[in-house]
Amino acid sequence: MFPNKLQNLIKEIHKLPTIGTKTAEKIALYLLNQNQEEKSELIKSINELKDIKLCKACFNFCEKDYCDICLDKKRDSSVICIVAFPKNIQTIEASSKFNGKYHVLHGVLDTINGISEEDIKLKEFFNRIEKNKDKIKEIILGLSPTIEGEATMIYISKKLKKYDIKITRFARGIQVGLDIDYTDIITLQDAISKRTDI
Ligand SMILES: [Zn+2]
Repeated sequence: MFPNKLQNLIKEIHKLPTIGTKTAEKIALYLLNQNQEEKSELIKSINELKDIKLCKACFNFCEKDYCDICLDKKRDSSVICIVAFPKNIQTIEASSKFNGKYHVLHGVLDTINGISEEDIKLKEFFNRIEKNKDKIKEIILGLSPTIEGEATMIYISKKLKKYDIKITRFARGIQVGLDIDYTDIITLQDAISKRTDI
């Protein structure tokens, strides 16, 4: 039996996603053997997470009021790619095929689990489009093609019909049901370049 304080740490690590008891134990014992300086760095990084905010324009993670992508004057503000989570931005950015701006929903519509427009940043998205309707030329529906992702994209495209804005989605290279984050980079680059009109 481990001492209480070590058991507590194992319990906390075990709460993290995908970490089983054995891995939690391994990490806790690894930390136990690290010197105080190394441990302090980790604690400092965790504490600094409180400084992470959501960008006031696109809801990406950032440290100031606006994220680096929104502040980048070289990026095309007339094209907005709507994604479900901030991690999807990392994936699309890694493809180097997109030079527009983003809008992060922080989820997708999911009637079974009771996730509606108010629970995600969808109202904020429609407000943003309404405010900038004369400047926006294209909106890319960049959600993963899961059942909920598809339903959300249909919902959004219907709501955007009243605007004179081109609505596109990634080409079908991304398999139905697959997460954008698990699509290989070549397929993703291809899907972004050959996006199709809705
Ligand atoms: Zn932003």
